[in-house]
Amino acid sequence: MEGKKVLLTDSLNSVKIVLVGTTHPGNIGAAARAMKNMGIKNLSLVQPKEFPSDVAIYRSKAAKDILENAQVFNNLEEAIFDCELVIGTSARGRKVPWPILNPKQAAEEVSRSSSHHNIAIIFGREDRGLTNEELGLCNLHVNIPTDPDYSSLNLAQAVQILVYEIRQAILGEQEDKNYWDVELANNDQTELLINHMDELMQQVEFYDVDNPRKLLLRVRRFFKRSRIDVMETNIFRGLFATIQKKLK
Ligand code: SAH
Repeated sequence: MEGKKVLLTDSLNSVKIVLVGTTHPGNIGAAARAMKNMGIKNLSLVQPKEFPSDVAIYRSKAAKDILENAQVFNNLEEAIFDCELVIGTSARGRKVPWPILNPKQAAEEVSRSSSHHNIAIIFGREDRGLTNEELGLCNLHVNIPTDPDYSSLNLAQAVQILVYEIRQAILGEQEDKNYWDVELANNDQTELLINHMDELMQQVEFYDVDNPRKLLLRVRRFFKRSRIDVMETNIFRGLFATIQKKLK
């Protein structure tokens, strides 16, 4: 359990949120709060209009530590120089097409890289977002899908959506790896199970062998989809073998 928590923290620590040219200190505070809620604590600010700021502290509530540890830079390149994955956020389509993802897809990319890379998620100015040059520094762009009539979210709310998805994706990935108590069946074990079930179905004349239609495909899809584990394959195969013995 402890080990799992360390893994989660390590992954979350590899992510930094970069706010570029923020005008309203309240948004910086609210972004810090959003980050702390999701366990992401590295905040970098590029040319904030007003920082440090009492308004920012007030809006951060219990996330004052994130503001105190925030790093301030003169330009974006300095803020992201050590990052291998850089993701820019944008409320609208830009002239230059770029790989563009929704927050969930972007979070999956982050989660895949988070154990071995530094990652930056960049947010733009309240009035005009990121410049094309700044977006050009990014590997990927993220757009939060909205009503087309009003696509621009409040800065801190956009941060909230991204950090929420990142936390969920990292947790999900770790659970995928750790949550099961028995090893998953490998391809060969699953094939043996499917063949065994087919053998039994033929023995009890469950289907017309000359015309199986999609039956075997559906059985196969069921077992593949369920990502069956070794103990489960043993239970099914034990049952099939017992029925076969009784049939004799
Ligand atoms: N008019 C600006 C909107 C700026 S909103 C623009 O066209 O980009 C301030 C910041 O919040 C944006 O730079 C972006 O980082 C984030 N943001 C707001 N709405 C967003 C959306 N729908 N998708 C992605 N990021 C968004």
